[in-house]
Amino acid sequence: MPFYFLGFASGGPGSGKGTQCAKIVETFGYKHLSAGDLLRREMSSDSKYGSMILNTIKEGKIVPSEVTVKLILREMKSSDNRKFLIDGFPRSEENRIAFEQIIGAEPRFVLFFDCPEEEMVKRVLCRNEGRVDDNIDTMKNRLKVFEALSLPVIDYYAKKGKLYRVTIFSFNA
Ligand code: AMP
Repeated sequence: MPFYFLGFASGGPGSGKGTQCAKIVETFGYKHLSAGDLLRREMSSDSKYGSMILNTIKEGKIVPSEVTVKLILREMKSSDNRKFLIDGFPRSEENRIAFEQIIGAEPRFVLFFDCPEEEMVKRVLCRNEGRVDDNIDTMKNRLKVFEALSLPVIDYYAKKGKLYRVTIFSFNA
C-alpha cells in the first residue's frame, strides 16, 4: 500500500462538513472524498449494492463498513494524489476498524464540526437538494445514529490527541 496522508471529517447531518471540506481542500491540496457522495454514486450506478444502499440511507442507518471502505479505497487507488480528506467518515467504531484493517492506515487528524442539533435540523429541512433522507423522520434517526455510533469514535480520536473541534454557533435573527 502506498504512503497516504489522511484526514477525516466528522459531524452530524447538516453540520456543514461537506461544504467546509470542499473549501479546505482548495487551500491545502488534499483530494476531498465524501463517504455519502460515494455511496449515492454507487446507488445510482448498476451496482449490486444499489437497493441496499438506498434503503439504508432512507432509514438513516449506516451502510456496512466493508462496502463504504471499499468505495473509499477504490477512489484512493485511482487518484494521483496521496493526501485525502475523507468526510462523513468514520461514522462508527466498526467503520474505523474496517478502515484500519482494509486500508492499513490511520488519519493524521480528525475534524469534528460540532453543531447545535436545532441548527442541523433547520439546515437539513431547508436545503432542498432532493435527497431521500432530508425529511424529519429520517433526520431523527440520523441524529440518533450520530449520537450512538459516531460520537464514541470522535471521543476515541480526542483521547489520541488527533481531534480538532470546529464549534458552530447558531445565530437566530
Ligand atoms: P451524508 O452525505 O454524510 O449526510 O450521509 C448520508 C447517508 O449515507 C448516511 O445517513 C448513511 O446512511 C450513509 N453514510 C454516509 N457515510 C457513511 C459511512 N461512513 N458509513 C456508512 N454509511 C454512511
